[in-house]
Amino acid sequence: MTTPLDPTAASPDAPQNNPCAPPSSGLLQKIAQGCRKSHPFEACGLWWREDSIERLHIFAPHEYTASPTHFAIPAQTLLAILQHIEQAQGTLCGWFHSHPSHPPHPSQRDIASWWTSSQGPWFPQAQLLLLSPSNETYAWALYAPTQEKSFAPLSWGDVSPTKIS
Ligand SMILES: [Zn+2]
Repeated sequence: MTTPLDPTAASPDAPQNNPCAPPSSGLLQKIAQGCRKSHPFEACGLWWREDSIERLHIFAPHEYTASPTHFAIPAQTLLAILQHIEQAQGTLCGWFHSHPSHPPHPSQRDIASWWTSSQGPWFPQAQLLLLSPSNETYAWALYAPTQEKSFAPLSWGDVSPTKIS
């Protein structure tokens, strides 16, 4: 038997059981704006729900160390955000980062770091969102962790980081 907190219960076969709806188009646009701002470096952040309202944190450059291909978020910075989410009784929905020069597919490092950093066991409901610049827009793809310790695509599309008037 599995419980809702059992990491093995996270399955893309049952997305209706996922407490987090996919990010809204407005949220995707804000994330794409953050990716463009960080370009050519990777952007990264997370989103969650508080009282069914989407909240977003995009790590500012001073909050993490980054190279064009990798980022590292200090535990202290991350802990403060996770504590806020817990105190607000929010639900962490997912993590995002950009692939400035690769398509929005999970890399081997993405897969390995997800499972070794305990994000899977801690946040079985969390999704992975990847974005890649494509002309004037960003191609995005949303993934759910699988029981096989990989990711399965949930949805994908394109988002323009510029405001639509
Ligand atoms: Zn990646």
